[in-house]
Amino acid sequence: METKRVEEYERDEEEEEDEEQMEEWDDWQSEEEEESSSRCLCLFCCSRFGSAEILFDHCRSEHSFDFHHVVRELGLDFYGSFKLINYVRSRVAENKCWCCGLTLQCSRDLQNHLHPASNFEKDGNFFWEDDLYLKPYMVDDPLLHSFAGDEDEEEDPPAVDEEMMRELMTSEELPKLCNDGQSMINGDSPISDVFKETGNTEASLDSMDKISQGMMTNGMILKPCDQKQKDKILRVSLANVVARKIKNVNEKYFGSYGSFGIHREMLSDKVRTDAYRGALLNNPSLINGATVLDVGCGTGILSLFAAQGGASKVIAVEASSKMAAVATQIARDNGLLSEDSMKGEEQHSGVINVVQCMVEELDKYIYIPPNSVDVLVSEWMGYCLLYESMLSSVLYARDRWLKPDGAILPDTATLFAAGFGRGGTSIPFWENVYGFNMSCISKEVMEDASCVPIVDAIDSRDIMTESVVIHSIDLATMKIDEMDFTAIFELKLRTDPANNATSRTCPCYGIVLWFDTGFTNRFCKEMPTILSTSPYTPRTHWSQTILTFREPITMTSSDAFVSTTAAVGTEESPAVRIRARISIARSSEHRSIDISQEISGISSDDRKHSWPVQIFSL
Ligand code: SAH
Repeated sequence: METKRVEEYERDEEEEEDEEQMEEWDDWQSEEEEESSSRCLCLFCCSRFGSAEILFDHCRSEHSFDFHHVVRELGLDFYGSFKLINYVRSRVAENKCWCCGLTLQCSRDLQNHLHPASNFEKDGNFFWEDDLYLKPYMVDDPLLHSFAGDEDEEEDPPAVDEEMMRELMTSEELPKLCNDGQSMINGDSPISDVFKETGNTEASLDSMDKISQGMMTNGMILKPCDQKQKDKILRVSLANVVARKIKNVNEKYFGSYGSFGIHREMLSDKVRTDAYRGALLNNPSLINGATVLDVGCGTGILSLFAAQGGASKVIAVEASSKMAAVATQIARDNGLLSEDSMKGEEQHSGVINVVQCMVEELDKYIYIPPNSVDVLVSEWMGYCLLYESMLSSVLYARDRWLKPDGAILPDTATLFAAGFGRGGTSIPFWENVYGFNMSCISKEVMEDASCVPIVDAIDSRDIMTESVVIHSIDLATMKIDEMDFTAIFELKLRTDPANNATSRTCPCYGIVLWFDTGFTNRFCKEMPTILSTSPYTPRTHWSQTILTFREPITMTSSDAFVSTTAAVGTEESPAVRIRARISIARSSEHRSIDISQEISGISSDDRKHSWPVQIFSL
């Protein structure tokens, strides 16, 4: 393995980028000069100007429209200013005053009427608030290409931000977007958020052309782009909005891993850490002499275990700069840092090489031959398995570096569901607070709980139905799409005698979800193990995820025929089964998930009562 020092890469890259940017900027300028020379049409009359600046001077002195003053006064950003120009043009085309709305007879009357603006709003929104004004009003309007020339970079990126675009290209959303163009339009992707924002699917699809160039290999859907140069700024800006959104979420996400509390919590979770430790230490035929890739090493604990287990090489990748530095120090302090990373220090060297970057960018920092890694290990699981999950990063690493017969640890993940009773809610707590009845609070709490999943531990005694597997994934073979799924299943009361379930009725308050991950004997030949977050096993920091019904459903274990017209799920007509349909999908919010839950109660005489679908966002 050939390691190139990070500083060298950065230096090389900065130089390259500078050159590229100069070239791009030259192109941009000359294009712009060519396009806009003598062509910027005044917003109010037929005069044309060589630059936006001269045009705005003219508008200020001749038409009482001070563009820069309005922008400054109202704090308009790039998009706001962009929309303002299109809005003004659209008003003027109808001989309407852009600020008071008066309709004049002709253009000359309008020009005579124009006055300094005193009002910019209707119903609390700027007149140009509507995203339809993101669409250039005038075809090939050079003003839209040049009005923001003086703005700072942050507000008006001169070109697609390459770094953000790279993140976007490697984000888990893209394959999903690429494979399902319709979903972009239907509004279940981050990019479709931009469509929602613009209200202009066509323009936005078009604007994503830059992104689509990177997607074509997957047989993508994006509209052929025959207007390529037309909406250059719009296109670039919208792409940047999406990329920036993802970048912000990532910064927050990796930033949160920079605090030690979260690592202490994970390390103190013995169930979790021991499962990984066991897999790495007790399976010598797998780990001894192996090249191990640890995706998201945090403190480096899994890499340390792998080194301890006899790995010959461990590449520990961590995106949080703070944690990468910490992991390096820890490996060094424990004599396990590799020579590559020792930078000539006079110490006994080990096998761990810590690389600070997102694993998606690992190629930039270190050369690992494709399909050369024996074991890929990662602790990627989030609440409800998939929340804030870095699974897509793990699969990216798997497909790039893991040998075809290489091992992935863990190699299976299974999601379970069961119904829970009153004890699983906060109702009993509020009933008796130091002897006082505060039950009025629980009504509100329960309402909230029917929209937002609660991550908390459920006592196994409060699980009142049998448990059901609702989704399984095989990490060695799965595709990223398998993260999204719909499960249809039925829950029946538990029948174990200890629970005294025979012929009883009791209300079910919701469904609780949990997961197991397996280090199975497929790879862990000597000692397979399971990391379980079940309510029946010792608690982990993942607890369980609780989805509360809008109202409890009374259930019974008795099949006795009930002759009643009462609604199924009530005391008079309890349900013998709850039929559920749960969908979990990656949300338009990067790293979040959406959960939908549809429930029906079935009585012993096969009548059914259904409740409206519930949507939970995690
Ligand atoms: N392996 C450690 C930490 C697990 S937490 C342990 O078991 O204790 C997950 C870690 O992965 C975090 O530190 C996070 O910053 C890092 N991470 C998440 N996504 C990543 C990615 N795409 N590339 C590199 N690191 C990532």
